[in-house]
Amino acid sequence: MTAAQIVRKVGVTGYPLSHTISPAFQQPAFDHYGISASYRPYPVTAEELPEFIAKLHEAEWLGLNVTIPHKEAVISLVDRCTPTAETIGAVNTLFKEGGDLVGDNTDAHGFLTALRTDGATDPAGKRVLVLGAGGAGRAVLVALAHAGASHITLANRHRERAENLLDSLRAALHAQETAVAGWQSAEVQAAATAADIIVNSTAVGMAKGPAPDESPLPPHVFRRDQTVFDLVYTPSRTRLLRFAQAGAARTLDGLPMLVYQGAAAFERWTGKPAPLKLMKAKAQAALGA
Ligand code: NAP
Repeated sequence: MTAAQIVRKVGVTGYPLSHTISPAFQQPAFDHYGISASYRPYPVTAEELPEFIAKLHEAEWLGLNVTIPHKEAVISLVDRCTPTAETIGAVNTLFKEGGDLVGDNTDAHGFLTALRTDGATDPAGKRVLVLGAGGAGRAVLVALAHAGASHITLANRHRERAENLLDSLRAALHAQETAVAGWQSAEVQAAATAADIIVNSTAVGMAKGPAPDESPLPPHVFRRDQTVFDLVYTPSRTRLLRFAQAGAARTLDGLPMLVYQGAAAFERWTGKPAPLKLMKAKAQAALGA
């Protein structure tokens, strides 16, 4: 096989991987540049992960996206992590640099780019309520700290997870006033009303998640001049966003963030600017949005 015929491998790993839409918007980006690469889903169990990641050192591999449940486990399997991935404590992108397999996290970048570009909202100096202390919540908190939010209130169904998260990010959140509010409490409703920005980084509202068509907040907390960002992208109009819209708040769904985190990964793998318009259109088409 000549060099011109070699198809480089790239893709996404997680388990299970039944509803990933990453191939639908990553493959067209490679095709757009005529790069001979095939972006595929690689469902891999926790037991199979070390052997699978070791294979990435082979020249045929360009890199990989990593999703639930491997974002933390993969840290011990790479040669090094970027400072962002180290601070977040999770990896969603693997790329190669100088012979090293490097773990990066592009979720914080994707979140901030979506908030600023599509949500027309700069978090600098703003009061923010974050719902959710899982992997996405960690990336959101690091992004908000980096962007200079002034106050951050965190609420999570299991309260101690929120307390532990703020504790573990104390160094990154040194310039912020932080607080934990009880899940679905009067306290979190007051924090929502006072917030300039509300972010849902829980799985509540996901069509195939644990609480489809539920909202983590009641309708009366929303108001004009607020931005409400739901990281969920299926459906694009969650109950939370419908409530926020009825309250005249600005709303933003999870699709732009998904595309921007993927676009940043594409740029690490290829060194080329991601064709954002194309990637967004393909992601929208894949979701039927
Ligand atoms: P994760 O690490 O598994 O965390 C799940 C979060 O959802 C936790 O805060 C969990 O609370 C909460 N949760 C789950 N079921 C709940 C319920 N029935 N009631 C209340 N809270 C519940 O997952 P993740 O990676 O953080 O992802 C969270 C969401 O963000 C998902 O919808 C995912 O699709 C979305 N996301 C979107 C993007 C994007 O690019 N748009 C990127 C990453 C993630 P407990 O701790 O109390 O269990």
